[in-house]
Amino acid sequence: MMFSKILIANRGEIACRVIRTAQRLGVKCVAVYSEADAGALHVDLADEAYCIGPAAARDSYLRGEAILEAARKSGAEGVHPGYGFLSENADFADACAQAGLVFIGPPAAAIRAMGSKSAAKDIMGKAGVPLVPGYHGESQEAALLQREADRIGYPVLIKASAGGGGKGMRIVDQAADFAAALASCQRESKASFGDARVLLEKYLTRPRHIEIQVFADTQGNALYLFERDCSVQRRHQKVLEEAPAPLISQARRNSMGEAAVAAAKAIGYVGAGTVEFIAEPGEGKRAGTFYFMEMNTRLQVEHPVTEMITGLDLVEWQLRVAAGEALPRTQDELTINGHALEARIYAEDPAKNFLPSTGRITHLATPAESRHVRIDTGVRAGDAITPFYDPMIAKLIVWDADRPAALARMRSALAQFQVVGVTTNTEFLARLVVCEAFATADLDTGLIERNRAELLPAPALAGDEVLALAALAELLAIEQRAQARAAGSGDPCSPWGTSDGWRLNQDNHHILVFRQGEREQAVTAHYRPGRYELELPGGRQTLSGAWQKDGSLTAWLEDRVLQANVVRSGTMLDVFFRGTRYRLELHDPALHEIETDAHSGSLAAPMPGKVIAVLCTAGAKVAKGTPLIILEAMKMEHTIIAPGRGTVKDIHYKVGEQVAEGAELLGFELEPD
Ligand code: ADP
Ligand code: ADP
Ligand code: MG
Repeated sequence: MMFSKILIANRGEIACRVIRTAQRLGVKCVAVYSEADAGALHVDLADEAYCIGPAAARDSYLRGEAILEAARKSGAEGVHPGYGFLSENADFADACAQAGLVFIGPPAAAIRAMGSKSAAKDIMGKAGVPLVPGYHGESQEAALLQREADRIGYPVLIKASAGGGGKGMRIVDQAADFAAALASCQRESKASFGDARVLLEKYLTRPRHIEIQVFADTQGNALYLFERDCSVQRRHQKVLEEAPAPLISQARRNSMGEAAVAAAKAIGYVGAGTVEFIAEPGEGKRAGTFYFMEMNTRLQVEHPVTEMITGLDLVEWQLRVAAGEALPRTQDELTINGHALEARIYAEDPAKNFLPSTGRITHLATPAESRHVRIDTGVRAGDAITPFYDPMIAKLIVWDADRPAALARMRSALAQFQVVGVTTNTEFLARLVVCEAFATADLDTGLIERNRAELLPAPALAGDEVLALAALAELLAIEQRAQARAAGSGDPCSPWGTSDGWRLNQDNHHILVFRQGEREQAVTAHYRPGRYELELPGGRQTLSGAWQKDGSLTAWLEDRVLQANVVRSGTMLDVFFRGTRYRLELHDPALHEIETDAHSGSLAAPMPGKVIAVLCTAGAKVAKGTPLIILEAMKMEHTIIAPGRGTVKDIHYKVGEQVAEGAELLGFELEPD
């Protein structure tokens, strides 16, 4: 029988996603939240909610006992773990069962069997599923691993057996680099997964990542819901996903699907799972020979693309299967309809090597949802992206009859996705979906790296139209302030209330200086009745305009009408115009800041995080690029390197200490060239 109440042991978009389906099925939802998430969307959507501890995940979302206590208090009958956190924790699945709760996921034994990539490969190999050539044995002796790597042949990939989320992997190009890469991989694996064991694989160049969605019930039925192509990755993490995989033959699709179902059956699988394969390039751009990589025993981040092409709700299937029902369909009843794409919108800065960006979202505008456009998110305008959790803001999913049409939908939806307050990867994604390789489905995991120059160009410079829009937003604000002042002074005719330029200036104009990176551009606005005369870099143009009810800005520049969104926050102006975002800083020439001395000083933390390694000592003379300190923040390691040849003066933090953004990590003296 269907549950009457479940607890969702997660946060963010996936918690919201699960709640929506559960509530549609008449199932009451219990949320859990950390102190940092008290006002979060998933808490608002739930029918009841329990605080389970402080912000850090290990003190809240990873505390199984606290979550079970909330389940007991609320009378929930089942626990949906989402993805990440405790979703692949077999002990937690066991603890749920012991507490009399249904774990809405696979049996603990199946999680255990797939929890180690090495053990998983062993099982899959025996079940006849093809494996990437490599070593996944018990012995972890460094000399033996080196011999195995030499035998496999370089490049070799070292992977954490317990790894996930693209973490704990090292590519080794030659024998001489192996030992250092192994040590670094083991350190990261131990720190992130509490397990230093690794496996080795032949590193395939230009492979595709194709995965199969599988589903099984408790009555012995198992089937596959086709494939997803997740080849577009950065640092082994998925960026864009799609279904079905382009350029795959029906025969290959069937054999991969059957191999995946065999894999699921080999471990007595129940519920939703994903069998990930890596495919070698075949003829033309087609997917060739494929190998098993790992199985993820949970709902995957990218499951919506499968939902869009099958018309099914995978969370509904999870709930039905967990409630003991049979799979709602048989393999023969499943068909692929159209094409779906998903883009992961992250708070991160592509220009700063994709460093996660934290802060409050002050403005959030998204494309309208329809049967073509779906947005899965866990945040609203006003919410903060904190350093404690994954910086994903939303998943943008589009569907259409075929890939080119879906691609066109994605382009226009991305152009309408506007975020201010944190830096995001939306423009990077927008360039990605128009780049030749992606548009023609010339897919492999190196696509982003190969097209770096095109995907990460210098930020678009504001032209006359953008400068005019920014100037208009600023001039309207000046006008509004002046009117407010006049109203306050009680004398509407007061000269202090006029906004027609510098009131004590006989020349009726206002100079606005906009800064974009290193570049400064000045716009002079002369006040004329009902309009402005602008001196722009490209010449003189007349301007007028107004804010619209929906918050957008309309400008008449000479004989053209321009439509834009301009968001002002402090001295920053974000202009969203024709699908591009321009960040301009209004620079008051009177306020000249003291530039920091580039020749001596300190190295600051680029973001809040924890020091996990100090690689230098005070007094050390180091070369440019020498790694000095490793910070861990937002589930990633960031290495602070020497900006040039110089001397480490003193080190301000110890391993294990938490640092704030901008904190001085160490004193450093650059040597003159
Ligand atoms: P894969 O493990 O194959 O990369 P996914 O792309 O579905 O599969 O997820 C990546 C991993 O990142 C997940 O295993 C999950 O542990 C983690 N992760 C992603 N997003 C979040 C999130 N919002 N909260 C917690 N963990 C997350
Ligand atoms: P995770 O648990 O982090 O998802 P995976 O084993 O699924 O780890 O690998 C993640 C990604 O790393 C893959 O999608 C693929 O892009 C790349 N990768 C993994 N194994 C190989 C390999 N043998 N050769 C080339 N790339 C690989
Ligand atoms: Mg994976």
